[in-house]
Amino acid sequence: MKKLIKNGLCAAGLSAFLAMTPVASLASGHGHGHEHGHGVEAVKAMTPAEAMKTIIEGNNKFKAEHDSHHFDAFQNGQVPNITFITCSDSRVHTHLFGMEPDNSLFVIRNVGNQIGNSEGSVDYGVHHLPTKILMVLGHSSCGAIKAAMGDYSKETPGIKKELEPLKPVLAHDDGQGSFKERWAKNVELNADYQVNYSLNLYKDQVESGDLVVVGAVYDFNNNYGKGRGTLVITNINGETDVDKIIEHPVLHELSKGEIVTHVGSLSPAVEW
Ligand SMILES: [Zn+2]
Repeated sequence: MKKLIKNGLCAAGLSAFLAMTPVASLASGHGHGHEHGHGVEAVKAMTPAEAMKTIIEGNNKFKAEHDSHHFDAFQNGQVPNITFITCSDSRVHTHLFGMEPDNSLFVIRNVGNQIGNSEGSVDYGVHHLPTKILMVLGHSSCGAIKAAMGDYSKETPGIKKELEPLKPVLAHDDGQGSFKERWAKNVELNADYQVNYSLNLYKDQVESGDLVVVGAVYDFNNNYGKGRGTLVITNINGETDVDKIIEHPVLHELSKGEIVTHVGSLSPAVEW
């Protein structure tokens, strides 16, 4: 089996951390309709020189496809619609939401999509841009959640420092079901926790209707039974009851069918 990390592309600490989500766990998947082997095929190992060539050629292609006027509208300032915090995990990519790549999303990424570990960046999006939506996006097979569920005492100080804040999440692990089922539920609990954390920070904006905080999971393992690759909304402004989320005005541009497809829950409601 190929290794996920090859050729020393990552620093030692990061490669150790990513190794917590080995290819085997991707390929074995979870739940419904997963065909074995596809996760392995998707892994592309590049040499560092190949990776740099790809980046530079990709930039050349982008420039060739966009003349200089492309930048006119935002050359002096940004007006994104969403402050968006997600995991650093390479399988989560922001293009999957169909937003324009320029000037649409104010993106913050760290391991385990944690507000507290990038609080200043999130503050900037909410207070200074300011966006009307803050979205926290977790994802299937999150290595940070898996690591936090186990013994990470031998990790680097930096990794330990960024995993410690997940303790309140894991305190609500109900221990029910297989490891993979608990893992999936804890991913959602983390999104819920981060929403709750945000509500404490941005209480005034949420109460005045200037901000909606949305918790969601990018489900590429079909843990929610809604199809692989579905964005599943699990929390709006602290509300985790599916029937109540469905009624939230922020979803009212969507059809009922679309809303039902994109709202779900695996975890029981928690008082944080
Ligand atoms: Zn992750």
